[in-house]
Amino acid sequence: MAKVIELDAATREELFKKYSDPDTCPTDKLEPIPLEQEPAFVAWQQDIPREYLSMPLEELDRRIARAREHFGDRLVVLGHHYQRDEVIKYADFTGDSFKLAKLAEAQENAQFVLFCGVHFMAESADILTDPSVRVILPNMTAGCSMADMADPDDVYECWDALDDWLGDSAKIIPITYMNSAASLKAFVGEHDGIVCTSSNAPKTFDYAFERGDKVLFFPDQHLGRNTAYAMGIPLDRMAVWNYRQPNGGLSREEVERADVILWQGHCSTHQRFTVEQIEQARKDYPGINIIVHPECTWEVVQAADDYGSTEKIIKTVSEAPAGSAWGVGTEINLVNRLAHEHPDKTVFCLDPVVCPCSTMYRIHPAYLAWVLDELMHGHVVNQVEVDERTRKWSLVALERMLALP
Ligand code: SF4
Repeated sequence: MAKVIELDAATREELFKKYSDPDTCPTDKLEPIPLEQEPAFVAWQQDIPREYLSMPLEELDRRIARAREHFGDRLVVLGHHYQRDEVIKYADFTGDSFKLAKLAEAQENAQFVLFCGVHFMAESADILTDPSVRVILPNMTAGCSMADMADPDDVYECWDALDDWLGDSAKIIPITYMNSAASLKAFVGEHDGIVCTSSNAPKTFDYAFERGDKVLFFPDQHLGRNTAYAMGIPLDRMAVWNYRQPNGGLSREEVERADVILWQGHCSTHQRFTVEQIEQARKDYPGINIIVHPECTWEVVQAADDYGSTEKIIKTVSEAPAGSAWGVGTEINLVNRLAHEHPDKTVFCLDPVVCPCSTMYRIHPAYLAWVLDELMHGHVVNQVEVDERTRKWSLVALERMLALP
């Protein structure tokens, strides 16, 4: 049950100043501006025609609206919770990666899905939708730094090394987080494994231990560790596979002893949260509720009052009583939106200098206008397409997850 604390107006103001200082992080000043004025724009997809770079936001808005009207329900726009406001406003549906993939699947009339998220999410939507549906990612450089930490070749190498060491003595079940390339979802599908989300990770561990002796979990070590620990597996029965080192930097004995082998990947956004930030928030505002995402470190999750997926964070804060205060450990766009939607509660991000998910931030309205203009002319640009074999085995892994009780 959430605690309620009384904060007077002056204290609230002091809190917001302290925890949302726009001078500390340039991307906190998330003013909508033309694409060419954004600081990191040069690193983004360069084949967008130049006319879109300086196009006023009103013109982008007009073009996007025109295309949406033209296509009606043949076009569905999906927006991830971490997306900036000037993009999320175009979304027909918002959600986390899995919810959005399921929503894409459920759109009976859709011919095109415009996915305002990152690459692995668009792949999942392509896997789950009918092959005739075209899934479009507005900017192809919108990836996920965590997903990129699990290169398929590195994972195959790890798998072979584990097999050499363990042979028939132990069966390993691979689990991949949704935040991974489609080829890795296919890999787990082919090797009796399963896909998980941050909501259902414990159930997928149950699934794995009913069928095998050990789990290989990738790419996020923190989600894997937090889940295994909550299920009673001690930290000293987990080993971390460092993909930058020969044999993961592990000895055969360490692998034999481990129940769970964690890939050394992380989310750059969530790994920024610290125990010190939680202690500071509790010191500043005794009685505050702390909720964090399981991609945060084990120490942070242990120090928080509660943890869970973005959907759980939204539900918990939304259903909390008026007057309650929340220090939240997740992506800043989501936290700011929650704060805005619940003016009767105090909601702030635990890290005053946290930046948005930098790859999600690469989706700008200029890219939406560009791909939609092209679509109006019959050209599909930036289609995300999963090949037949990858689709087949990814679906096996995803359907195992969907069949969980
Ligand atoms: S918040 Fe982290 S895990 Fe999510 S898309 Fe961004 S980098 Fe990837």
